[in-house]
Amino acid sequence: MARKFFVGGNWKCNGTIDDVKKIVTMLNESEVPSEDIVEVVVSPPFVFLPLVKALLRSDFAIAAQNCWVRRGGAFTGEISAEMLVNLGIPWVILGHSERRSLLGESNDITHWTNIVLAYEPVWAIGTGKVATPAQAQEVHVGLRKWLSEYVSSEVASSTRIIYGGSVNAANCKELAAQPDVDGFLVGGASLKPEFVDIIKSAA
Ligand code: PGA
Repeated sequence: MARKFFVGGNWKCNGTIDDVKKIVTMLNESEVPSEDIVEVVVSPPFVFLPLVKALLRSDFAIAAQNCWVRRGGAFTGEISAEMLVNLGIPWVILGHSERRSLLGESNDITHWTNIVLAYEPVWAIGTGKVATPAQAQEVHVGLRKWLSEYVSSEVASSTRIIYGGSVNAANCKELAAQPDVDGFLVGGASLKPEFVDIIKSAA
């Protein structure tokens, strides 16, 4: 089954209104492969979601960086999934290793059809050390095998498994050429113009 290449930009806890406007302008002016070829999703901090939604071109989507997975209510400081839907935000990053290690989050997955799975070796996140294409391919194959055994063969063949951890313009092409690398989750480089080169690695 064909899996559309997926590139996510995780802005993490970075930026000011001016920085956000600059990144969005850079993205809006970029020439990238069409939506049939690559799905682009950027993930600003919560406070900038409405601004990015108002300014970003419509062929790029937006993700939140976490959400409260139960119904809203007396949960000070949380943002519910319903609020994100209400705002027109279709994606959310859940279970990032930074949240697991710093805030004790764990796995709790239900609807596989809506999931893009990111493999991010913790030693590669923000370190400049990237997995080799062979290493990434090997782990992605292992994840697909796990999906096939514990979920279903349909989910295994249709779920996009993306790589994250020090992806940049120089290393993205070789990684993207691996048959089981279906895209990227990009941190540091998603704040820079080279994010556009990473999107172009889809084609
Ligand atoms: P990095 O972050 O690209 O800066 O290594 C990746 C991530 O944490 O999603």
